Amino acid sequence: MAVFNRVEFDNHEQVVFCSDQESGLKAIIAVHSTKLGPAVGGCRLWDYVSDEDAVYDVLRLSKGMTYKNAVARLPFGGGKSVIIGNAKEIKSEALFRAFGRKLEGLGGAYYSAEDVNITCADVAIMNKETNYVLGLEGKSGNPSPFTALGTFLGIKAAYQHQHGHQDLAGVKVAVQGLGAVAYSLCKYLYEAGASLYVTDINQASIDRVVNDFNATAVGIDEIYDLDVDVYSPCALGATVNDNTIARLKATIIAGCANNQLAESRHGELLRQKGILYAPDYVINAGGIINVYYETAPGGYSAQASTKHVEGIFGTLSEIFARSVTEQKSTHLIADELAQEIIANGL
Ligand code: NAD
Repeated sequence: MAVFNRVEFDNHEQVVFCSDQESGLKAIIAVHSTKLGPAVGGCRLWDYVSDEDAVYDVLRLSKGMTYKNAVARLPFGGGKSVIIGNAKEIKSEALFRAFGRKLEGLGGAYYSAEDVNITCADVAIMNKETNYVLGLEGKSGNPSPFTALGTFLGIKAAYQHQHGHQDLAGVKVAVQGLGAVAYSLCKYLYEAGASLYVTDINQASIDRVVNDFNATAVGIDEIYDLDVDVYSPCALGATVNDNTIARLKATIIAGCANNQLAESRHGELLRQKGILYAPDYVINAGGIINVYYETAPGGYSAQASTKHVEGIFGTLSEIFARSVTEQKSTHLIADELAQEIIANGL
């Protein structure tokens, strides 16, 4: 299987293929960079169609973590791991313990955490074999409120950039997905006086936000056609695509979902249309920032974490300003900023 000549390969420091016959573990750990600190990024359990797909995912996601951690100004490099298999069939104590031993074998070059199909409980099993895991229950706690705070401040930074002030009173925001992060985000927006238009595939989640924050419920697909100021994707990836860009009336896209742009070229398309895009990995870094404070000298402090998350406002403001000066899309400016921080240090 080709690795070194793939387009996703970006001089990753290590790509480790792991197996354990007894538990059935098949995993790949990619350490993209340890330039700023140990590589940190979650572990994903997925039933990949082929090993090539798993390699593609782990190479791409680990590089993404290097950039995310750098722009969040964390002393972390970037890494990611994937366990290959069907989550409903392969999960076991033996599997996660075996994976924990693989992490231990890397000697701290990489710290793992939760990601798709991996829960806090699974990470706790890994922790029986290694201390190279983060995001355990009872440590930094639920990251979602911190991600929500960063996203709220990101919306404010975008509004400030476009309108010269941050007063969200009367501003119309369409929120797609009303899960753990978006519920807290809606609370912040409601308290700031914004009008909320919301959708979810789960009726109970809609009812809660309609009742608690006087939101207006809209259809799953209708969310793209609303006459609103801000579109806030908080559910799925790839919702910013040729179809939706043609429909959106919002002039700001700022939400917590990962991988919002279907393709990189959509970032430039947004710039040309005058839609300000808050790059996903910058605006949604509140959760990883909070996890960092588990390892901070002096131990976890919610106050220190909150202060750090508040820095997302300034980082996004800088990215928006540079996008204007350099006439480049915000997501490319974010990547440039990451590369500068990696090259020059925090
Ligand atoms: P969650 O699972 O709690 O919420 C997702 C919500 O989206 C659910 O309520 C679900 O019903 C809804 N949804 C799913 N498909 C939908 C659709 N087609 N249309 C509308 N709604 C739909 O997840 P979360 O933790 O709130 O995270 C939301 C997003 O933010 C995810 O993309 C996640 O990867 C990203 N993110 C989360 C964090 C965090 O701290 N939790 C950090 C960074 C990024």
